[in-house]
Amino acid sequence: MSRATGTRFDVPDVDAFTRTYWDAAAEGTLLLRHCDACGRDHHYPREFCPHCWSEDVRWRPASGWASLYTWSVVHRNDLPPFGARTPYVAAVVDLAEGPRMMTEIVECEEAGLRVGLDLEVRFREAGDGEGAVVVPVFRPVATGA
Ligand SMILES: [Zn+2]
Repeated sequence: MSRATGTRFDVPDVDAFTRTYWDAAAEGTLLLRHCDACGRDHHYPREFCPHCWSEDVRWRPASGWASLYTWSVVHRNDLPPFGARTPYVAAVVDLAEGPRMMTEIVECEEAGLRVGLDLEVRFREAGDGEGAVVVPVFRPVATGA
């Protein structure tokens, strides 16, 4: 499988099943898969529920809220285009709905990162041309005022 846009490592493969997810992200909505059999959500998207194996699953918008579970500040990455982007914060977040998700933390100083940090989803374009997609990233919830 080759990509028309060349070798990039920041752009996911979009297939017929995940098209809905990426289309929603492009419009600023994070979708999760919700199971109507057991009531739980999961991510990454699957065609069956990983909790109870039911196929009674559907797309549902997430709240967009999450908390920081763990992270790594990446200072070096030789895979294009990440090298031009360092340092960046690769992270795992706990979505308010339960699933854990790999993502990136943006708009946050390294010193401000801590376990449990309240986050909100944002969307960023990745790639360009035909292969461009919009990916969910997270930033700290604005506090104060
Ligand atoms: Zn289930």
